[in-house]
Amino acid sequence: MARRDYYAVLGISRSASSEDIKRAFRGLALKHHPDRNPGDAESERRFRECAEAWECLGDPEQRARYDRLGPLYTPTGRPPSPDELNDIFRDALNGLFRRRRPGGAGEDLRYTLTISLEEASTGVERTLDVPRTVRCKKCDGTGDHAEGRTPCAPCAGTGRSPTRRLLRTDCATCDGRGYVPARKCDRCGGEGRHPLEDKLKVKVPAGVATGQKLKLKLKGHEPAAFAGTTPGPAGDLYVVVQVDDHPLFRRRGADLLCEVPVTFPEVALGADIAVPTLAGNTTIRIPSGTPSGKTFRLPGRGLPTVEGGGKGDLHVRVVVEVPTALNADQRAAVSALGERLGQDAHPARRAWEQTLRSRR
Ligand SMILES: [Zn+2]
Ligand SMILES: [Zn+2]
Repeated sequence: MARRDYYAVLGISRSASSEDIKRAFRGLALKHHPDRNPGDAESERRFRECAEAWECLGDPEQRARYDRLGPLYTPTGRPPSPDELNDIFRDALNGLFRRRRPGGAGEDLRYTLTISLEEASTGVERTLDVPRTVRCKKCDGTGDHAEGRTPCAPCAGTGRSPTRRLLRTDCATCDGRGYVPARKCDRCGGEGRHPLEDKLKVKVPAGVATGQKLKLKLKGHEPAAFAGTTPGPAGDLYVVVQVDDHPLFRRRGADLLCEVPVTFPEVALGADIAVPTLAGNTTIRIPSGTPSGKTFRLPGRGLPTVEGGGKGDLHVRVVVEVPTALNADQRAAVSALGERLGQDAHPARRAWEQTLRSRR
């Protein structure tokens, strides 16, 4: 079968820049990957064709040979194996042309911070002990000592994999450094970075709710920095807020709910009763004849909203507590009260009984 022109395969001109070639290959590799086109022989053929074209044109030396030899050019390697095709796709998905290692960015970090409802209401500043990875200061993140480094033989000091592969990867011998360390750094054990319990200040805004994330830029893990590479930025730290349950209040957005047990005489006669707020206790007046379960709203006694501008309300629900375990004296008193009140004091009950009687 006649070999197609590699430039035509990737749909680019002969004067395409190396960036153009990368972009064209990446697009086609994603489009024709067998995982996306299961059982499609034509896609697989196109995928292999693109991989072969990329293998040649993606390497400046090979590309120069191809341009010189034209149809006489033969790739020296074998066609890509299924495993290698999978490698390509994985690399493509992971950001094919961005070397994550060793010059990559550090990993993000997550920290769960538990605060009280009172702290969520006012906002709070906390100092966290965050276990993160920091670049080793003793070796500047290189993992070794500068003196005594020898160039890596297998990759000839390039740090790239010496075996012919579809995509250049880091040399396994030197881990992409391009040199062999003489002596590992004794502070970080050659990793170029080490764990550290870092003290970090975080400002939690008033009105924060469970699940909200506060981002501390560049306070995640720091990457190592092997010699000759520019270290990437540290990851970010995400502080995930967890607001503790409160014994008195339930929360609904910026509003607070509270249930207060009251006595029958209090709701019957009206009373001033003490109710809690986040800022301390206060008193509300309940009128005579207040039904059990009635809710009173205390405006502005809830939580502030994170966006600012206004506060939620406090909803106080009064629930009549029915006395239990009465002694003989108390029973007699309640019984006498019932008789004294009679039907006139209980219109709902009277109507109910009339309805039941009318069914007979
Ligand atoms: Zn090497
Ligand atoms: Zn070190």
